[in-house]
Amino acid sequence: MNLPFFQFNATIERSKYTEWDVEKRRMMKVFICPKCGSITTVSRRKEVFCHKCGGTQMIPSKLTFAKYTQMDEQQRKDYSESWLYIRNHTSGES
Ligand SMILES: [Zn+2]
Repeated sequence: MNLPFFQFNATIERSKYTEWDVEKRRMMKVFICPKCGSITTVSRRKEVFCHKCGGTQMIPSKLTFAKYTQMDEQQRKDYSESWLYIRNHTSGES
């Protein structure tokens, strides 16, 4: 059983949550750490630093928040691993 967390919350507090959820999802961005591949979601922030490896600046990923919430732990792990792999094997492109 692996419900996305917003779906889980919406079941608990549906009426209040739905509006907030739509707004929130529109603002949320998925950031990834170029050093350890840790993924985090943030809103309204331009600069995000990785807590796991002590202040590495994280990079906005192409993953959408909606997509990210639908992924399970293994998919997130796979995503960050392939993201890191591609990043480490392409040179000079920002
Ligand atoms: Zn990191």
